[in-house]
Amino acid sequence: MFFEKFRMDGQTAVVTGGGRGIGLACAEALAEAGARVVIIDRDEAVAESGRQALAGKGIEADALVLDVTDSAAVDKAAADIFAKHGRIDALVANAGIARTGTAAEDTPDELWLNVNDVNYNGVFWCNRTFGRYMLKAGHGAIVNIGSMSGYIANRPQLQTYYNASKAAVHHLTASLAVEWADRGVRVNAVAPTYIETEMTKSVVDKSMMDIWLRDTPMGRMGQPHEIASVVHFLACDASSLITGATVKADGGFTCW
Ligand code: NDP
Repeated sequence: MFFEKFRMDGQTAVVTGGGRGIGLACAEALAEAGARVVIIDRDEAVAESGRQALAGKGIEADALVLDVTDSAAVDKAAADIFAKHGRIDALVANAGIARTGTAAEDTPDELWLNVNDVNYNGVFWCNRTFGRYMLKAGHGAIVNIGSMSGYIANRPQLQTYYNASKAAVHHLTASLAVEWADRGVRVNAVAPTYIETEMTKSVVDKSMMDIWLRDTPMGRMGQPHEIASVVHFLACDASSLITGATVKADGGFTCW
């Protein structure tokens, strides 16, 4: 009875940026819980490689190409998914990009707009559109992927544009949660520390990582599955009283 709340049998779950990294681990976790998973990624090869990685583990998933910054395309994708599966129960708004190394005063418009378009606008377009289907059904759970960088200024990395976009996701999460709380739709977020993925490889050099590990109480990075298990908890009925929360999964970094 108790553990049934962790099951998602018969549900449809959508994971943006699900072709690799944290998104792929989330897709696997939700599928293991019984959900039919739709992987969304903007690159066809990445989306397909995610689908195949799951197929290799005996999990059948859909792969869909979508750029989350295109709100009209998000609308169409949601309509297509609903037409095919008849329900949309969970959304993991995970697609994001990291850019670092440019001081705030040198930040060109394009850099600011690009990061915020994916990390913030894209999250809102997906929350709004997939949320509509959940509101109509009176049931659903959204999990947004924020970041510890939404809590701290992360000065050595010079990434004001990224930090601000993730803080915005945390507040968007709380705001939507309050609006939708009495209509059956929960909205939560997860704020990860550094997780071993392609993204981290591309933006974190060794000196930065040494500083980071020194200052992290647990003294290590995270793995994608350690975020996926939190996402699964927030996406399923086991967390039925939780909405508007941003759960830190950061090895204790932001505690001090
Ligand atoms: P990855 O870069 O490994 O994976 C992200 C995936 O999202 C990529 O396949 C990427 O495609 C896709 N994507 C990017 N932009 C879009 C878009 N506009 N539309 C659709 N898909 C898109 O990143 P991670 O798995 O490491 O990160 C996932 C999330 O977790 C991000 O939101 C990130 O900010 C957040 N996060 C990550 C941390 C980490 O240490 N890794 C720490 C804290 C938060 P493409 O290759 O084309 O960009």
